[in-house]
Amino acid sequence: MRIDIATLFPEMCETVLDTSIVGRARKAGKIQLFCHNIRDYSPDPKHHRVDDSPYGGGKGMVMQPEPIYRCYLDIIRQSQSLPHVIYMSPQGKTLTQQKALSLREYPHLLLLCGHYEGVDERILTRIVDEELSIGDYVLTGGELAALVVVDAVARLCDGVLPASECFENESHMNGLLEYPQYTRPEVWEGDAVPDVLLSGHHARIEQWRRAQSLERTARKRPDLLK
Ligand code: SAM
Repeated sequence: MRIDIATLFPEMCETVLDTSIVGRARKAGKIQLFCHNIRDYSPDPKHHRVDDSPYGGGKGMVMQPEPIYRCYLDIIRQSQSLPHVIYMSPQGKTLTQQKALSLREYPHLLLLCGHYEGVDERILTRIVDEELSIGDYVLTGGELAALVVVDAVARLCDGVLPASECFENESHMNGLLEYPQYTRPEVWEGDAVPDVLLSGHHARIEQWRRAQSLERTARKRPDLLK
């Protein structure tokens, strides 16, 4: 899978994309991740301007359509493929695990990050397939949101985690929250790991985990059980 991020702040994204599990998967070629600086596509060779004040008045700046459009066309030229384009926006549908699973099916995603007051509406109607939000609050830019999407989708791609079981039983995969996890030591500060997990009895462990999942979903997120 290939994911491109179009942003005014690629350095903000590169650091995260080179770190931990996603960084290792990127280096190993399990997933292709590219960041593009929209400013490099400004038609203004002197000041590399990419924004201007809003028509109709008001505070703040709006990102102009032309640099974004040029960046989009260059990504198509470089990749020789037509990406599914997502505009990161507080106005979009909220990202969920089910959405991350469906995004994994696209061979090529392009995540467009707005900044300031957002982007000129005409670029949205011209190139964007869908808008995606990471929650009902407003960020200064789409970069953090795009990185959340990359992380949530990348870990579902083949070869990024050691095995698909790593995410198959996790919270939100089957409508429930995950059971509690424990590791060494067996007793910590007088607090012991539940006996059943040391029993070696796989069927009983599965039963206990299922019951724990149901109990904590009912307690922490009763809305999921509905
Ligand atoms: N004026 C816009 C509005 O009221 O809908 C908000 C613009 S926001 C300050 C700047 C950029 O941050 C947006 O263009 C978008 O790319 C990104 N952004 C802000 N909040 C977001 C969220 N909750 N999810 C995804 N992207 C977000």
